[in-house]
Amino acid sequence: MKEKAKTEENSENTHIIVNSLLIGILIGVVLFALFRFIAYKPTHTTHYHANWQVWIEGKQQTFPEDIFYQEVASCSINNDTDPLHRAHMHDKVYDIIHVHANGVTYSQFLENIHSAAQPGYFVLGNNTYQNNNNNNKKVTYILNGRILESLSGVVIKSEDKLLINFGDESVSELIARDIAIQNKASEYNTKQDPASCSGDHATTLQDRLNNIIY
Ligand SMILES: [Zn+2]
Ligand SMILES: [Zn+2]
Repeated sequence: MKEKAKTEENSENTHIIVNSLLIGILIGVVLFALFRFIAYKPTHTTHYHANWQVWIEGKQQTFPEDIFYQEVASCSINNDTDPLHRAHMHDKVYDIIHVHANGVTYSQFLENIHSAAQPGYFVLGNNTYQNNNNNNKKVTYILNGRILESLSGVVIKSEDKLLINFGDESVSELIARDIAIQNKASEYNTKQDPASCSGDHATTLQDRLNNIIY
């Protein structure tokens, strides 16, 4: 009789130990997930903006077509291997470049919108503009008040003012036009984007949940 009671007590003890262990593990997993959820920081936090304007024969271009803009949905914050993600425009705002990775060049940005800025000619979507000696119209690139031959290899910097111009305006007129570009990029750098395509200023619930699992 005494023996039996002891065995029962033993098995009860084993039960308690196993249960506590399981509960302990469960609490551990939950705490770990909670920690990852709270402590989450995206690995890539680059996000800044540059100003740019394109003028063709005296008129600023406003790019109404969708092909010039990147869907916010495709802007996951850890996705800087995707060339489209690195530099683009959003929400039909035609004069702000959003940069989401370091070292991105204007050529890379222009490529994303099917364009190219080469010496003597500028490709803008389906149109090409080139220097024409007959009517004195020419392609000019001006970055922060300085004339450039082309934009290849030029890294986009925060709050740059880029003017791409095709027309017969004088150089001094164009430099003045470039310098007069309003620094909207500075506003975009400090405020959160209206759309949630952002690197360092907003982390979505989805990003945090994903991070628990991956
Ligand atoms: Zn942005
Ligand atoms: Zn973006």
